[in-house]
Amino acid sequence: MNESYEIIDHLHDVVVIGAGGAGLRATRGLADAGLKTACITKVFPTRSHTVAAQGGIASALGNMGEDDWRFHAYDTIKGSDWLGDQDAIEHLTKEAIPSIIELEHDGVPFSRTEDGKIYQRPFGGMTTHYGKGQAERTCAAADRTGHALLHTLYQQSLKARAEFYVEYFAIDLLMTEDGECRGVLAWDLQGGQLHRFRAHQVILATGGYGRAYFSCTSAHTCTGDGMGMALRAGVPIQDPEFVQFHPTGIYGAGCLITEGARGEGGYLTNSEGERFMERYAPNAKDLASRDVVSRAMTIEINEGRGVGDKQDHIMLHLEHLGPEVLHERLPGITETAKIFSGVDATKEPIPVLPTVHYCMGGIPTNPFGEVVTLKDGDPDSIVPGLMAVGETACVSVHGANRLGSNALLDLVVFGRAAAKRCTELLEPGSRLHADTTKSEEAALARFDKLRFAEGGTPTAKLRDDLQASMQRYAAVFRNTDSLNKGVEVITEEVAKFADVQVTDRSMTWNSDLVETMELQNLLECAIVTMTAAANRTESRGAHAHEDFAERDDENWIKHTLTWYRGDGKVDIDYRPVHLQPMTDEMEHIPPKERVY
Ligand SMILES: Cc1cc2nc3c(=O)[nH]c(=O)nc-3n(C[C@H](O)[C@H](O)[C@H](O)COP(=O)(O)OP(=O)(O)OC[C@H]3O[C@@H](n4cnc5c(N)ncnc54)[C@H](O)[C@@H]3O)c2cc1C
Repeated sequence: MNESYEIIDHLHDVVVIGAGGAGLRATRGLADAGLKTACITKVFPTRSHTVAAQGGIASALGNMGEDDWRFHAYDTIKGSDWLGDQDAIEHLTKEAIPSIIELEHDGVPFSRTEDGKIYQRPFGGMTTHYGKGQAERTCAAADRTGHALLHTLYQQSLKARAEFYVEYFAIDLLMTEDGECRGVLAWDLQGGQLHRFRAHQVILATGGYGRAYFSCTSAHTCTGDGMGMALRAGVPIQDPEFVQFHPTGIYGAGCLITEGARGEGGYLTNSEGERFMERYAPNAKDLASRDVVSRAMTIEINEGRGVGDKQDHIMLHLEHLGPEVLHERLPGITETAKIFSGVDATKEPIPVLPTVHYCMGGIPTNPFGEVVTLKDGDPDSIVPGLMAVGETACVSVHGANRLGSNALLDLVVFGRAAAKRCTELLEPGSRLHADTTKSEEAALARFDKLRFAEGGTPTAKLRDDLQASMQRYAAVFRNTDSLNKGVEVITEEVAKFADVQVTDRSMTWNSDLVETMELQNLLECAIVTMTAAANRTESRGAHAHEDFAERDDENWIKHTLTWYRGDGKVDIDYRPVHLQPMTDEMEHIPPKERVY
């Protein structure tokens, strides 16, 4: 150690790490129930990536036509390509209804129908009568749903008197030697001190790791910190090989044009002006699920029908919808198109390209938010004191491919469930006995080593290399050669981290050190992603393996579990997919072919 650190102590019933939709929904529920709750966040709560969510949040309210949560469950299972857990999906889709009503009562300013109900729009893969009709299920506040949701949840959390620690960076979990989580070590970025938060339960709600890729729709803060912390604490990551590409990232910039744009009637064309989705998905067309549309676009480009000088993108048409609809229903994306591609969407098509959007994998949990792992042959063994919700978790409701508007829903349903579970498990203010000395020493040593790192490789250089490698070797289509090469290259990049260079040694506003710690988290997420992708010899959902083009239900209806052992070494094992629903209110949906 170069320096000895004074550490400020805090004691709470529950500590939530992350103030996106998931973290805030959990925080609000905990504080409301009288539990002493801290919410730690590296950015101001309403700057979390959730604020950027555009299209909406799914719930079978049936405001715009017939609907049933069982239809929603069926779509989610089919969308997941049968890798989603059917008990968790039942919980998600059933609880969607009270959860949205609750948000409405909390003050989310949803768009409205003529008769004052919550407005709902069609979204990809959302159907009625088990694939027969098209559902209008996605509740929206114009195209700023995440913004509306996040602000409302923050207000409600403040009202419930949750304690916020804003611009605090969580470094590592504090674990006992028996593998129980009892707190977290964090760094106050402004004040410059280290803080030890001790708690009976820690809830990770730190979002995804889209920034492992060069072109992604996620904020620069989406660096997989929660997953890195979990991996370092010996907790596995589940199904990381499934990374979703959104079909309509703006060409060149990567910013998102919501699927709601196609929900409102937008469509895609190739260089011949053909509406090619009619060929790939005769029924769902442009509203087929995201993996299907992203693959179709990539094939069009690979076969020489891409648009532009380089024939390397596709066009999204909204101009036929008319300025009124665009102004009322899609004002944000009209602005985004103008700023990032210089296009007036009321008059011209927008150039788009599939872009990394969502991480289906994450920290495995049960439907109550409790982290589970494979231990002594038990695949549902609970890690005491640790929960995970939101994009950092893998419940798994999205399986191999998430349906649009099911992520915001995941945040509120499981944020709510985790808070409820804590109220069952904990007595407010009860005493905490836990010795976490060893893990704390390890966390401090890691922090100190990085702070004084004197290697020859700047953080930004290594991050660029990593992002380029992920983009190249773990893309929309993968094959044995690309994935094996990818594992080799990422392993080298992980090794290079030992030579990282940090130039700023200060404790206040040291963005150099923050980015270096984020890079370590990204590298750990990347190596388990690439290794799991190379290991899965089939194609399912977002994992399209050219050398194993078919889905292999006999061998691969199972969740991948990955443990990072350090020095580039990843261990893999499996958990069974829960194919049975939670209750008899819904029927088990057996695996079948996906037809669009
Ligand atoms: C552009 C875009 C549009 C989208 N649109 C939709 C949509 O319309 N519908 C839909 O269902 N889904 C949508 N999604 C997906 C969905 O918005 C995300 O999956 C979801 O918002 C993630 O929420 P979260 O609460 O898990 O994490 P985030 O909102 O990413 O929040 C993470 C939180 O963790 C904190 N944090 C992270 N690391 C640390 C650390 N080390 N220390 C302290 N704090 C930390 C951050 O400060 C932040 O508060 C969209 C995603 C993107 C990128």
